[in-house]
Amino acid sequence: MRLFCVLVGTFCSFLVSATTWEKEKTPTVNSTSSIGSYANGCLDGAQALPIDGVGYQIIRPQRGRYYGHTEAIQFIERLGITTSEQLDTNLLVGDISLPRGGRFSSGHSSHQTGLDIDIWLRLTSKRLSVNELAVPKPVSVVDLTNYKLRKLNWTDDHFQVIRYAAKDEKVVRIFVHPVIKQALCDRETPDADDRAWLGKIRPWWGHHSHFHVRLKCPEGSTNCVAQANPPKGDGCGDELASWAPKTIPVPPPKKVVKSKKKKKVKVMPSQCLALISNK
Ligand SMILES: [Zn+2]
Repeated sequence: MRLFCVLVGTFCSFLVSATTWEKEKTPTVNSTSSIGSYANGCLDGAQALPIDGVGYQIIRPQRGRYYGHTEAIQFIERLGITTSEQLDTNLLVGDISLPRGGRFSSGHSSHQTGLDIDIWLRLTSKRLSVNELAVPKPVSVVDLTNYKLRKLNWTDDHFQVIRYAAKDEKVVRIFVHPVIKQALCDRETPDADDRAWLGKIRPWWGHHSHFHVRLKCPEGSTNCVAQANPPKGDGCGDELASWAPKTIPVPPPKKVVKSKKKKKVKVMPSQCLALISNK
């Protein structure tokens, strides 16, 4: 297979399966560089997030998904210190990336370049034990059935932590459930200058027990495919309202016509192939 890959170059790269990336247990020893796009790429010279840090803990460390670009590691350390000093609480850090990035065999398709970070919406004043970290219990802050905030689970510390994260200059987007975005919009003062950070907060389904931070392509990562900037403004108006489920009137369901279009196969950047030892 290796010879075949060398002969055909990039053509071979989409044969690399998700689990291939999980077989790589150590980062490469190169300078750190994010390659490709957030959902189709890899990570050269990854850095591990230290297991025990100020203001944060890593959940499910047994999965080995705590590797990131140096800028991601520094971001988490900064946010941990701020969270600890300003709010006297701790973050639970979920998935970042595998030692060489690439696709996980389970869960989301992004997190491939060491620039995506999941942080749980469960803040902990008491640090969790090793066993609790291995099998942690998520806390949802959204009542999904009724599309509203679970006020018992939501605190002002959640607002503060997400705001600290969004105001970090390395952050390009943060994904949260639309109900959470609405809570952030409602909580911030009406002054336009104070609301600029809300533009980075993007509504997305699923993100009700964690928020997902995405960093910009770092300087020096010349093969990193940048995320488009979010639309101008705070994003608290019509677009956010459009996410709310419609109640009345409910039109009859349309007949779904199955598209005959074949799903495009993603071709992984050729530089990523060089990071895999078991081709
Ligand atoms: Zn995520």
